[in-house]
Amino acid sequence: MNQNLPRKFKIAFSGCQEDSGLTPIHDLGARAAIETVDGRQVRGFEILIGGGLGPAPQLAQVLEPFTPADDLLPTVAAIVRVFDRHGNRDNRNLARLKFVVKKLGIDNVRALILREREALRLTMAGRFPPIEVWEERRSAPLQPNRSLPLAGDLRSARWRATNVVPQKQLGWASVNVRLIRGDVTAGQLRAIARIARDFGEGTVRATNQQNLILRWMPLGALSEIYAILVREDRAEPGAERLVDVTSCPGADTCQLGITSSRGLALELGQMIERELGDLADDAGVRIKISGCPNSCGQHHVAGIGLYGGARKFHDEQAPTYQLLLGATLAPGRTRFGKPMARVPARQGPDAVKALLELYRVERKPEETFDVFVDRTGPERLRSVLAPWTELPPSSETPEKYLDWGSDEKFKLETGTGECAA
Ligand code: SF4
Repeated sequence: MNQNLPRKFKIAFSGCQEDSGLTPIHDLGARAAIETVDGRQVRGFEILIGGGLGPAPQLAQVLEPFTPADDLLPTVAAIVRVFDRHGNRDNRNLARLKFVVKKLGIDNVRALILREREALRLTMAGRFPPIEVWEERRSAPLQPNRSLPLAGDLRSARWRATNVVPQKQLGWASVNVRLIRGDVTAGQLRAIARIARDFGEGTVRATNQQNLILRWMPLGALSEIYAILVREDRAEPGAERLVDVTSCPGADTCQLGITSSRGLALELGQMIERELGDLADDAGVRIKISGCPNSCGQHHVAGIGLYGGARKFHDEQAPTYQLLLGATLAPGRTRFGKPMARVPARQGPDAVKALLELYRVERKPEETFDVFVDRTGPERLRSVLAPWTELPPSSETPEKYLDWGSDEKFKLETGTGECAA
């Protein structure tokens, strides 16, 4: 059955309410939760279903606010079976679980799934393995008490503040290796692998934010690790912060791409570092870019999201970006970004800069970007963006009709085929 589902089926887990696994945009999302049942603490999950991005984005809805861990497997099996039975096999564009939820309604889908789970419990009784509580232990030989002081310059201090996350195990930390636009060379990968072997337990994780994570790094060895990363040119601070702009491959390599999302990502990151340095490490707002409406760059879930398109100005095509603002995946107020304005690609950095300058001046203490967007209101935000939405004729500013990273006249041409993200 799993090999013949109507279409792909994406599953995400998050270990806490921070929801770094991005559960609301998956077919099935499981957010860890603990509930007291009969005076006993029971581990389990809040289960969400029917989320997904693409041109018809949909946030997942709650199937059950609490599913005990022992019920996880029958519940997942029931969800997959309902998708297998009700998913659209005639139209590939409508073949995800989100369309089943949209067509039947969450209450009906929930009833189908819960009935299926009951049937599975009876027919598969005893055949679902129990979920065993598993605690990770470090197997690497190093001890956490190696005490080499971290070099005291400002850049390394910034790197430590943004890229190092202490683990729950005292003395150990996760180190986030920031990859600008997700790029890393073979030589850098070898160096990172060596760090994992020499200091950690030999594994490296790729994050859904286009970075790499090295876990079980001894706090006392951070200066050595930082020095190696500096040597390899992979010690950029600001991981998972505003400056850490992410994008899909875009028109550089993707058949469906309209604009060079990678080109804009680089420009935006450099603009923020150069002109909005005090905001660069803001943890409350992220920028994500897609090269077309398909949203492989996850623009719907960013505080500032952009997706590529094209528009004629004075009878000439120019690459553009639609700006969406104020998305949040915070539990209880999860929502996608709201479309605010469409700007020519070359004016994207100016438009984003104008927005962030407003945010810097007018935000209230502790105010998150989505709350700031709501309080400011679309009218005001659109008026701030308005100066960047039009272009003079190309005879006056030919460069503004180009895409980032290109000196050739922009042409709107896409191929057929799968997205390359
Ligand atoms: S199809 Fe996906 S990877 Fe390709 S340009 Fe569109 S969003 Fe980017």
